[in-house]
Amino acid sequence: MVLFHVITLDGPVGVGKSSVARTLARKLGYRHIDTGAMYRAVTLAAMERHVDLGDPDALGRLAHECDIELIYHGDGFSVSLDGRDVSQAIRDPEVSKNTSPVADSPSVRKRLVSLQRRLGLQSPSVLEGRDISTVVFPDAFWKFFLNASLEERARRRALQLENAGKTVDFEETMKSVHYRDFRDCSRSDGPLLVAPDAIVIDTTTLSENDVIRLILAFIHSPVHPVQDG
Ligand code: C5P
Repeated sequence: MVLFHVITLDGPVGVGKSSVARTLARKLGYRHIDTGAMYRAVTLAAMERHVDLGDPDALGRLAHECDIELIYHGDGFSVSLDGRDVSQAIRDPEVSKNTSPVADSPSVRKRLVSLQRRLGLQSPSVLEGRDISTVVFPDAFWKFFLNASLEERARRRALQLENAGKTVDFEETMKSVHYRDFRDCSRSDGPLLVAPDAIVIDTTTLSENDVIRLILAFIHSPVHPVQDG
């Protein structure tokens, strides 16, 4: 069954998926589901409980024990881990650095993919992540893949960190983005891939508003440029 009320948005680190997904969801009256926040929440739990990041099964057990929720309020959502608001804590660069082994664990992915499917089917949603078009909702009608050059994505990520009051070393940011790209693309379970029927948008020279306008134009057009040939 084709899903018309689930919009998927995949892409690499720092491409601007979250801001695009947030605005798109607001304009359409859909829910914004940030799946990266869930992998970050499990990572934070693993760091706090000193779970071995090299042990995929222990990480999987932890993911099954944790209660992860996205709690929606007027202007967005907060991320709750076992009843505690961790929205800020999961954005810490130390958490970002440690997400890769957590996201590589098949058992963590199994748990989070099932949570994401459940959430996505509850109400019309825009889901953003890495494997949404390929694994979580391959049956969504509108699938988008956002891309941009490595330099531009590192620049956007550095700006985000600066805006959050962090001190930023651009070379280090670029290395970290590159490393996380490599890990995201090379994992055997749920790697970052372009779905064959996804619409690919290179955002390197586009503003956020340009990207949102483009996606809305596709969604409101009578034909699908990939599926309708
Ligand atoms: O998107 P964000 O950078 O917040 O995601 C955090 C990490 O979670 C990413 O580095 C990626 O490895 C992982 N992730 C994933 N699958 C998703 C979403 C995120 O593996 N659907």
